[in-house]
Amino acid sequence: DASQMPQRFLFYKPYMSNGIADRILIEQELHKALANEEFYLDFQPQVNLKTSKIESVEALVRWRHPTRGFVSPELFIPIAEESGLIIPLGKWILETACVQAKTWEKQGLPPMKVAVNLSLGQLFQQDLVQMVQEILQRTNLEPKYLQLEITESMTMNIDQMTQLLHELKAIGIQIAVDDFGTGYSSLSYLKDFPIDCLKIDRAFVRNIQHNQNDEALVSMILSMAKHLRLKVVAEGIEEVEQLAFLIEGDCDYIQGYLFSKPISAEQIANNYKDLHNR
Ligand code: C2E
Ligand code: CA
Ligand code: CA
Ligand code: CA
Repeated sequence: DASQMPQRFLFYKPYMSNGIADRILIEQELHKALANEEFYLDFQPQVNLKTSKIESVEALVRWRHPTRGFVSPELFIPIAEESGLIIPLGKWILETACVQAKTWEKQGLPPMKVAVNLSLGQLFQQDLVQMVQEILQRTNLEPKYLQLEITESMTMNIDQMTQLLHELKAIGIQIAVDDFGTGYSSLSYLKDFPIDCLKIDRAFVRNIQHNQNDEALVSMILSMAKHLRLKVVAEGIEEVEQLAFLIEGDCDYIQGYLFSKPISAEQIANNYKDLHNR
């Protein structure tokens, strides 16, 4: 049928086959990247709006590929998840983040929590709790300085999830729900899960000055969190108007380009020294 032709042409656009080939290549290269030490972590400060202090930083993995250059985690994390590489990579990220937090402590920086993203695959990992415990022991980091970020879409079975989170909490670490509001899960888990913190996704904050629905949603999340005694981090704050709205709404922490992009561990340490010497 000739009328179908254009669609077929559309389907076989060359960039698509390139995309798939590229993806397979990237998967192979990801496996080598860990051994070749091509990964590193940047850290983005989370600012306490009451004290204006940095009380925590989020660790964000970076891949510096020898020829491709910087590859975005938005691209390679999903591939790492599908290929199973997220298990060893996730372990490396957790250990590296804890080592770094301890290093800052030894350098005399005030205590800071480090927040580490967990992928779905890691939650299903049989020895996750034991791994977290071992890493904390090995790095000698106090558990209260580690926060794990999980996402709503991760809802395994609710009972299983509740059990797992209780085991993690028993170690003494903190749990945050990342990208809050973007998943499809019901809110009822908020009363069952032992969580400490909600991170409001950037999608809700982005247009807050121009969109009354977003404004209503963020206000609702802030007041709900207060009633449930959860801390709130607003993500992706780029503009002072957004900041003003969040201060007004009694938000606890902000994270975003307005204050700082993700930066290197050295930059975090230097910023602190600057603050001290002022
Ligand atoms: P996420 O966990 O929601 O991380 C926040 C993302 O928002 C980061 O992008 C950060 O650089 C970006 N961001 C922060 N403030 C602003 C802002 O004001 N404006 C804008 N436009 N963006 C802002 P990044 O580092 O590219 O990471 C993207 C996603 O990749 C993360 O989203 C997370 O889902 C995943 N990811 C990154 N690092 C890791 C990791 O170590 N482990 C796992 N499992 N996933 C990671
Ligand atoms: Ca996160
Ligand atoms: Ca997020
Ligand atoms: Ca995200």
